[in-house]
Amino acid sequence: MTVAGLMQQRDLAIIDIIRFAAAAHPTREIVSRNVDEPLWRYDYARCFTRVAQAANMLAAHGVKSGDRVSSLAWNAHRHFELFFAVPGIGAVLHTANPRLPDEHLIFTINHAASRVLLLDRNMAEIVERIRDRLETVEHVIMLSDAERSLPGYTGYEQAIADQPKIFEWPRFSENSGAFLCYTSGTTGDPKGVLYSHRSVVLHGMAGGLSGAMGFSAFDVVMPCQSLYHATAWGLPFAGAINGVKFVLPCDKYDGASLQELISSEGVTFSGGVPTIWTMYLDHLARTGGNPETLKRVIIGGSAVPRDMAVAFDRLGVTVQQIWGMTETSPLGVVSTPTPALAELGRDDEQEQIWTRQGRMQFGIEIEIVDEDGAPLPHDGEASGALLVRGPWVLERYFRSDVSACDADGWFDTGDIATIDRFGFMRITDRKKDVIKSGGEWISSIDLENAAAGCPGVKVAAVVGVHHPKWEERPILLVEPLEGADLTESAITDYLASRIAKWWLPDRILFGPVPMTATGKIDKKVIRDAHRDILRG
Ligand code: ADP
Repeated sequence: MTVAGLMQQRDLAIIDIIRFAAAAHPTREIVSRNVDEPLWRYDYARCFTRVAQAANMLAAHGVKSGDRVSSLAWNAHRHFELFFAVPGIGAVLHTANPRLPDEHLIFTINHAASRVLLLDRNMAEIVERIRDRLETVEHVIMLSDAERSLPGYTGYEQAIADQPKIFEWPRFSENSGAFLCYTSGTTGDPKGVLYSHRSVVLHGMAGGLSGAMGFSAFDVVMPCQSLYHATAWGLPFAGAINGVKFVLPCDKYDGASLQELISSEGVTFSGGVPTIWTMYLDHLARTGGNPETLKRVIIGGSAVPRDMAVAFDRLGVTVQQIWGMTETSPLGVVSTPTPALAELGRDDEQEQIWTRQGRMQFGIEIEIVDEDGAPLPHDGEASGALLVRGPWVLERYFRSDVSACDADGWFDTGDIATIDRFGFMRITDRKKDVIKSGGEWISSIDLENAAAGCPGVKVAAVVGVHHPKWEERPILLVEPLEGADLTESAITDYLASRIAKWWLPDRILFGPVPMTATGKIDKKVIRDAHRDILRG
């Protein structure tokens, strides 16, 4: 029998993060671009006031504890306010992903059963397309200033203007749901991952640690990973806990736009998928610019190319690779130095850091196992299924009756990895049949099914191969029916009306499709044969 601890049982709550930032760092700035609006600039104190007004506004629209609210929005200050206002009232913010094909987007909003949808101005086109098919949405609110809200929408600024500047924030269990993020990194319909207040706060605290993102109140943080993508890797929370200045780029991720913000706002830290940094480095190379105040970038979502890390290093910027997934909130491992690595000497240390996804972090256990589930040695050689466990790893998907974990609480990530004696993990392959292009998933199975429907196709196989800008792009191998007269353009035309444009394969090849002994398409053989087909 243990003895009960005698400390306060104060439930962890997301609203306390912004309340703290407003009290401890009231004048620290938040600067935001917005769709077609001048730069917005305020501080944590004003932000907290507006968070209260937004909460009052949502309550006036009937949003209650436990309800879901969807956003279709970029990295801008009003979306940031919703990150605190919605969970603050005990409701759940579903950050819908505008890059999803319409069918999936509609599925997620209906599955979430959201009562309110808040959108950025340039999402109106999407909303017009799908609005009739949203089954539960009662109110649609536009996240724009008073003058620019489009007809037919309630404007956010008008709606909050007369609301009280305080809100009676309720206290509730820290296990209550707070954010609903759907992942399409699996087969079938997107799956909802419901973060709790407890998981978000713990993840935010851990994210700021020196072995992870290592924030201080002097940092100026520009999140370039989308707020709708696993809460921008928890940056809003890790940053506010540490009182950083935030610079929000809205939807402008081209190199010139980022450089302008870095230079004018003194950005010291940024993060995003490799594609963004490819564009940024290209911009610097073309303009002869330098990263100025930028000191660190955290890169993940796909493997960081070694050349990218080297290029940043030459410019005096430290690259920290991160690995994670929506199911892990998403922080899993981060590549930061250790004394044991330093003993190897600078070259080996750098090599280790540049070529591994990262090292173990307190709060998330990682393990690799063989096909029978037996643990493999952490020798940097043995590779196996990567399992994770911890307070910010999902237990089951939203609306699912079954656990997504095994009896010991391990969640199988679908990645294949090694772990070395220093505790660094390296992804070597992926079990799941999905392709990651510029940080977004393409289902190879959906693409194959679409292609298989094209008249004259006998078998269609899709694999992802390396692409210099998008990291990975799909290529399609088609085995035609005997006598069929198939051309690349006929297949492209057929696919164009059935899938999102950015899903179209970069290359269509014709030939026999290799099969495994069990009659499955042998993707490994196809991938190996065409590995370099899209390299520049
Ligand atoms: P996120 O939104 O963080 O990209 P997803 O759930 O969409 O999360 O994707 C998670 C998957 O992305 C991982 O299981 C892995 O396959 C891949 N991934 C994420 N980070 C890395 C990385 N640093 N290197 C290689 N693959 C990565």
